[in-house]
Amino acid sequence: MQNNQSILPSEYINLSLWNEFQNSLSGLLDIPIAIYGSNGSLIASPSREDCICEILKKRARSGLELYKKSYIKAITKAIQRNEPYIYRCFTNQYVFVIPVTLDKNLSVAIVGGHVYLSKDDFQAFIKDSADLGLDDLTARELQRKVKVIKSQDFFTKPHIVKSLAVPFLRSLYLKGFYEKWYYQMQTVIETTTPFQLPGGEEDMYRNVFSTLGVLFDVDTACVIERRNKDDYNIHIAFGRNKDLLSKWVISDSMDIIERVVTSRKPEFCDNIFDIQKMGLPEEITSVNIFPMVTWDNVSGLLCVFNTRLYKESIKLIALMANQLSLVREGIRGDQDIRQRFNDLNLLKGIYKTIAPVLDQEELYSTIINKSTELVGAEQGSIMILNEENMTLAVKATKGIDKRILENIRIGIGEGISGKVVEKGTPIIAKNIESKPFSRRNRPRYKTGSFVSMPLKIDSRIIGVINISDKITGEVFSDNDLNLLLSFACYASIALERGTYYRMTEELKKISLTDSLTGLLNRRYFQERMFEEVERSKRHDEPFSIFMIDIDNFKAFNDRYGHLVGDEVLKRVAHVTRDAVRSIDVVSRFGGEEFSVILPYTRKTDSYVIAERIRRCVDDIRLLGDKVSPDQRLSVSLGVAEFPYDADNIEGLIEKADRAMYLAKERGRNRVVGYGQ
Ligand code: GH3
Ligand code: MG
Ligand code: MG
Repeated sequence: MQNNQSILPSEYINLSLWNEFQNSLSGLLDIPIAIYGSNGSLIASPSREDCICEILKKRARSGLELYKKSYIKAITKAIQRNEPYIYRCFTNQYVFVIPVTLDKNLSVAIVGGHVYLSKDDFQAFIKDSADLGLDDLTARELQRKVKVIKSQDFFTKPHIVKSLAVPFLRSLYLKGFYEKWYYQMQTVIETTTPFQLPGGEEDMYRNVFSTLGVLFDVDTACVIERRNKDDYNIHIAFGRNKDLLSKWVISDSMDIIERVVTSRKPEFCDNIFDIQKMGLPEEITSVNIFPMVTWDNVSGLLCVFNTRLYKESIKLIALMANQLSLVREGIRGDQDIRQRFNDLNLLKGIYKTIAPVLDQEELYSTIINKSTELVGAEQGSIMILNEENMTLAVKATKGIDKRILENIRIGIGEGISGKVVEKGTPIIAKNIESKPFSRRNRPRYKTGSFVSMPLKIDSRIIGVINISDKITGEVFSDNDLNLLLSFACYASIALERGTYYRMTEELKKISLTDSLTGLLNRRYFQERMFEEVERSKRHDEPFSIFMIDIDNFKAFNDRYGHLVGDEVLKRVAHVTRDAVRSIDVVSRFGGEEFSVILPYTRKTDSYVIAERIRRCVDDIRLLGDKVSPDQRLSVSLGVAEFPYDADNIEGLIEKADRAMYLAKERGRNRVVGYGQ
């Protein structure tokens, strides 16, 4: 290896042509690419410079030096070994260096990559980056911009660069540079650049065929997909004889095909006998077959018919065929990812609709409406398993009147839904009339395709969702099933959560109510008092409370017994509740004492309500053999006002209590306000 320092790069390489090429290649591979001399000097500056390089080279302390040192080391190694060298640079990014020998005195290196193969590599670099003078803000900005790619995606890139750029760079150096070849090369790259293919795969092939037609005078061509051994399929054909190709059946047993698949190199045949043996129509007189290699596999063939191709053209089309297969994979992967992304968005929207629904009936219908919507189906039903008698009952339907199915009960193992419960796995049918179902399709269904899947919490089955009749009339696909399954998972959780919600609501009610009278209990009274005091302070609004105690109740119990006493407590509770306004809160304070909170009410305004309670109790007539007809009931009430009589909870209760005792002292069966 010798340096050729005396010659300026622009003198031995046509840099304007190279830069144009380098930009396209960079764009195609989505990585920075640059050329350096063997001593590390820059010849062609990087296109699509990586964000970390850009910052480190410009802003960071000694960043440029660090890069230069790492490049020189790697370039020296690559040139010495005369093969591509891949290394992890001080930023933990992967960089490849491809040596190009231009003549025996002059070697340069194409440097590209600068990508992370894992997020951890980036984090590790950032952790140690303080020495370089990277501030937090920049680190955070980089975090957003930095590219992490899969290693399999990375390692194909140096190969592509090597096969496309090395011959091109050499051609620029050589005096006998073919401008046409450059033009062809440029066009080939542009044709297969994914960014320029908004129309996807078909668009790409159309571009490729017009390129083949214009650049190489191709008469007829086709792309054949190879999914497996002997599984070939003409994907698309173009040109004069394209219609004649439709009947052509390709197999691995054809010698020429076998050679292309095993050697992964293009083959040519213009022997009429051999061509006829391949089963090609007689209008075809010659064929060039190019392998389309994806990763390690021949995934297709590009065939060019009735066209004389020069050696350079064959090389170029061979590159293009490989390129084509990689881009095709990219497009397919892209579509797949886009589809998944759409599905995810759809699901997310649905989860959002379901999350706030707590009413069980509404939840059932939301679930069935959304699951049919998700896969574009017209009919559906949701069945829930009753754990007591282990039967399924329909809870909501779409596209059919629920009343028709309401009374049907299905046992485990019975029919399709029963089988889904028994096995715990979904069933997807392309056609119910064929095997393994072999049932007649009921007239209310348009198609024989349906999905039936379990609603599960862990391994416990809680129900089944049945979906049928796609609006488009198509059969349900595996993708539909997958979507429905992830939805079912969420629906099960929502249903279960609904059950828990009702249980906790029930529990809450139990823990806040008094079991004998059904009134709210003292705990609730305390909580409400707390809230009321807060609210009163906030809005500067008073409120009042009553303490109510049944008169001479001990004597009543002693005379008639506790059971009758309990009945009386219930009666008093009911009449008290009926006597107050809806905003007032009645609770059992304990024993035969009740309390009432009267929000936004002054003591003076509350007397009328207190008086109403007293009168209603006074009016109670106890019927029955055990109670004497002249037995009377009465209550004494004490009233206090917040914050007028006391500005805290205990004080207020105490004042109301004191007023109540005053009422007792004054002869019972009366209302007394505190301080009155
Ligand atoms: P006063 O007019 O002064 O209030 O006389 P009183 O007899 O009602 O006196 P006090 O309030 O002290 O008596 C409470 C009585 O209420 C004691 C108990 O026999 C009765 N009691 C308390 N809780 C219950 C209950 O849950 N059921 C029944 N049946 N009686 C209860
Ligand atoms: Mg009492
Ligand atoms: Mg009493």
